[in-house]
Amino acid sequence: MAGNGREWPGMAGNRREMAGNRRESPGAPLRPRCCSSRRGRWGALWPPLAHAVAKGDAAAAAQAQCAVPPPVHGEAAMARRAASGRGGGRVSAGVPAPAQPRLLAGQVAFITGGGSGIGFRIAEIFMRHGCRTVIASRNLERVSEASKKLVAATGQQCLPLSLDVRQPQTIVAAVDEALKEFKRIDILINGAAGNFLCPASALSFNAFKTVIDIDTIGTFNTSKVLFEKYFRDHGGVIVNITATLSYRGQALQVHAGAAKAAIDAMTRHLAVEWGPNNIRVNSLAPGPITGTEGFRRLGGKFAEKSSLFDTIPLQRAGNKTEIAHSSLYLASPLSSYVTGTTLVVDGGSWLTSANSFSALLDFWSAGANQPQ
Ligand code: NAP
Repeated sequence: MAGNGREWPGMAGNRREMAGNRRESPGAPLRPRCCSSRRGRWGALWPPLAHAVAKGDAAAAAQAQCAVPPPVHGEAAMARRAASGRGGGRVSAGVPAPAQPRLLAGQVAFITGGGSGIGFRIAEIFMRHGCRTVIASRNLERVSEASKKLVAATGQQCLPLSLDVRQPQTIVAAVDEALKEFKRIDILINGAAGNFLCPASALSFNAFKTVIDIDTIGTFNTSKVLFEKYFRDHGGVIVNITATLSYRGQALQVHAGAAKAAIDAMTRHLAVEWGPNNIRVNSLAPGPITGTEGFRRLGGKFAEKSSLFDTIPLQRAGNKTEIAHSSLYLASPLSSYVTGTTLVVDGGSWLTSANSFSALLDFWSAGANQPQ
């Protein structure tokens, strides 16, 4: 990408999971509920959910889901126990397979940007729920290594493929390969994106266009190929990973804010047009998410050090598992009557966080976008 003359590396790699949350983050994968104390009450309600989902009874699943509280295990502790290695980031701690609810059993998810950061964690959580995955991005080595880690951690199949979402023919080739391997694709996660901080006055024409090309046009390209190759005839679920940047005109983010806002619009258009084909289309807009390339590049550490996250209603940044669990909701039968909407997963951040042009300019001037 040409933003500031540099390519967006798009690689969370092996960076340590950020452990700086003020509180223990609710974010570990779903676990069987233990029978002690107050969780025992909920534990009694969990089996009906698994049962309803296994039977494909979405209404009963939704009813059961109402009684299931969010997980309460710390992602920092989880990350310490996690395996490490090159490519794709860390897998979260293992979950005993027999008791794990399998919300996506037998399904196949195609995840762009699935080799790193948020996309990688979405792949992992989906696989822990019985889903086979295709993880696709430009860097085949990265997705191949990520795939090995995902398979080792979950025991599910994961096919790594190379594509550039700006080039439809590469998407067609990847989808053909995925269908050859798995014979079906049920879920598309559009996670591929590029971003960096830059004031509009310093943004080159090409940098703006590149972000639109990857985020917005790439999302359309991939959705259209999946529609034509499989979803039109079989139905499907699309989850577009967007952002809250445009809600308040976030400083130094005109390129990404405009690109993601266009995707949210696309979500509504496609939900209307493709609903009759039994295709649900939703957006998921994360807030600042620790342990990601986005967090590093967009001033997350700076905000953390400056206690700026205190202004977020939940008073902390989010973590990748929280985004993956929200994606799981949108991709699974639990949200079977939800389409054309944007699920904001940001701890209430966009409502209250500062939008300080001068502070971000200082951060940018100090070389925020330099590769580390
Ligand atoms: P990330 O790890 O850098 O993920 C971006 C992925 O996109 C990379 O795997 C990259 O892989 C892939 N990619 C980039 N250009 C591509 C292209 N032309 N074709 C195919 N794949 C491409 O970043 P992340 O922070 O986890 O972000 C994941 C998603 O969440 C993005 O959509 C981002 O906008 C969104 N989001 C993140 C945050 C946050 O705090 N991190 C907040 C709001 C929204 P290759 O380099 O191998 O192509």
